[in-house]
Amino acid sequence: MADGPGVLSGAESGATEADPAALEAGRLLFAQDCRFVAGATNAGALPPPSLPEIAFAGRSNVGKSSLVNALTGRRTLARVSNTPGRTQQINFFDLGGRLMLVDLPGYGYAAAGRSKVHAWSALIALYLKGRPSLRRLCLLIDARHGLKAIDRETMAELDRAALSYQILLTKADKVTPAGLAAVRQAVAAEARRRRAAHPEILATSAVDGSGIAELRAELAALSSPNPLR
Ligand code: GDP
Repeated sequence: MADGPGVLSGAESGATEADPAALEAGRLLFAQDCRFVAGATNAGALPPPSLPEIAFAGRSNVGKSSLVNALTGRRTLARVSNTPGRTQQINFFDLGGRLMLVDLPGYGYAAAGRSKVHAWSALIALYLKGRPSLRRLCLLIDARHGLKAIDRETMAELDRAALSYQILLTKADKVTPAGLAAVRQAVAAEARRRRAAHPEILATSAVDGSGIAELRAELAALSSPNPLR
């Protein structure tokens, strides 16, 4: 999987500085129309690869739906659910004919006392392995909790599959600046030891919007330059 150049610098210190042209490119891309394309519950329902794809993954309740909605400026694109583990399908959203946003089901939810220890369902594993159009996976980590054992298992699987991934901290508004700096540093230190992890750790908040413009800029750099629809 090819990876694009980063547009941020100093991410580890928290002093991220994005290039204004990259921020504008991100703003323009995410102002485009975003359409639901497919909700796949089995391999046969996966849409054929076309646009560059960005997948979003994380533990249930990490704030994935909220982040996708904040990125696209929509309230209801990805369902924000108070029932962890509810989304059981892979949802595809076409952003302006230039990028496919792929919302993967949350993992790690212990339902009715029965703990799901596996990080990925067979469907997700199949999607991740056979997707030449997948440019990057955004692995979401709650800024209050940092990496959990199941996140590390997921990272190990992504490393084994040589899938390029970037860690995004969510709910940054819920921690103090010092707490955020500490978790960013701890996560970055682990990411450095992982083969397929992108070195930049971006902190985001769907509530106060921090990190959203920077993430749009990062993702725009991976998009198709011309609309393919
Ligand atoms: P998902 O299961 O990963 O899709 O998580 P959701 O987007 O449904 O969010 C889970 C819970 O966290 C909801 O109650 C959200 O309102 C809350 N949440 C999500 N993002 C943020 C954030 O950036 N800041 C705060 N304070 N709460 C958030």
